[in-house]
Amino acid sequence: MHNKEIEENTSFTNTSKRQKYHRKMKVIKIGGGCLKGIKTIRHISRLIPSYGKGHILVVSALYGVTDILINGIDKALKDEELILPHLEIILKLHLSVATHLMESAECVQGYKRELADTVKLLERYYYGLNFTGELTPKMADAISCLGERFSAQLLAWTLRSYGLNCGYMFPQEMPLYTDGKFGDATVDLEATGKALQDSLLPYLAAHDMVFVPGFYGVSQKGEITTFGRGGSDYSAAAIAAAADAEVLEIWKDVDGFMTADPKFVPQAEFIHCLSYEECAELSYFGATILHPRTVEPVRQRGIEIVIKNTMRPEARGTVITDSSGQSAKIIKSITYTEDIAILKVHASGVGYRPGILSIVSGAITDAALNIKSVVATQTCISFLLSKKDLDPAFAALERIQPRPYRLLEREDELVLLAIVGEGLSSSMGVAARCFSAISGEDINVEMISFGPSKAALYFLLHRDKLYQGVHALHQTFFAAAQQA
Ligand code: ASP
Ligand code: MG
Repeated sequence: MHNKEIEENTSFTNTSKRQKYHRKMKVIKIGGGCLKGIKTIRHISRLIPSYGKGHILVVSALYGVTDILINGIDKALKDEELILPHLEIILKLHLSVATHLMESAECVQGYKRELADTVKLLERYYYGLNFTGELTPKMADAISCLGERFSAQLLAWTLRSYGLNCGYMFPQEMPLYTDGKFGDATVDLEATGKALQDSLLPYLAAHDMVFVPGFYGVSQKGEITTFGRGGSDYSAAAIAAAADAEVLEIWKDVDGFMTADPKFVPQAEFIHCLSYEECAELSYFGATILHPRTVEPVRQRGIEIVIKNTMRPEARGTVITDSSGQSAKIIKSITYTEDIAILKVHASGVGYRPGILSIVSGAITDAALNIKSVVATQTCISFLLSKKDLDPAFAALERIQPRPYRLLEREDELVLLAIVGEGLSSSMGVAARCFSAISGEDINVEMISFGPSKAALYFLLHRDKLYQGVHALHQTFFAAAQQA
């Protein structure tokens, strides 16, 4: 499996290197939900020798650890005395997994040393925070990324204790380059792709497998930048694209995408195949299976994403490719998010007054707030925002002088339902069927948008109507199709 020649032959060019390394290599992402408690982590560790050989394994932090690291920031800012007990919790949690799982005392010792080094680093960060009393975005990233380091080393040492020749590599060693934006970075695929040819890929060739901490990369200056919460999926996708992998496998504790949230709709069905577009829309608005930006890097290179349920590793979960496997139903899934609010900007002549849209949207983005979507009519611009961004966005628009609008209005008692399916926008009857399903339940639609995507249709409803709305739509598109 390891290719000795690759290590020895250093004279070939990048292109021939790429061909050498380009076996059927996968990038496998192991989520925090699969790293929850000793039993589950043991289960994953036993799967890896059969499914992980020759591949890159990008890991999340153990379940809950990122939250613990972030909670520690508050404690450190509040009271110095809280720091050491907090570090003790983190240390104990990882050590207890290590001692239960590792089959050799040397490996436990090896892990212990590395764990202690990283905890020491964390200790310095926490004391630094306590001393300065100030949290910068840079420090928040440097601290919150450490859970992935603990878990990547934990798995590497566990698999070593089973006799495998496995390694780990940190994003700063590859380097996995980003645009340098703290808390919400984007990968520089071009620079990373070049760098991996001389770092991760030859290292993989010399090992059975390589573990990589997900969730962060580094700027050109070497600063740690995370990809936002849940960002390990995106890390794995970026590495798959930069390393030119055959496939990106996402290991989870569920089968994959469903026609609706099964907690809500018990008769929801499993979806075998989605297009990139459908997957992006579903992840963006609601479905929590993948980080919304996972599709971006792999779509550019046409790399397939496969969701795998680690409880049923033989089964093929949802496959995401560039063809949707469009079904007669057209609609693939109904999803929703409660994290939605509208900021309405009333002004006359929105359509013919040049610049008004850019002035108000500029004020929102300058305040570092994300606009999820915009719907404009002649008299009103509606910004769809995350609930937490509503008040700061309102304040940002109030500060604009002179005021380019007549009135601002906010609404946050809403939910957004998204109906997703490739071909939906060209199928005339779909919107009408949605409307009659919803109005049949006496639900008032606050807003509807075809959005910028051809594969999604959004409705905003009062939050009390969420359950009824999802049911009515699911019944219309799925139960009816089943009977037909
Ligand atoms: N550990 C990080 C989080 O909890 C990233 C991830 O798991 O994807 O957000
Ligand atoms: Mg996740």
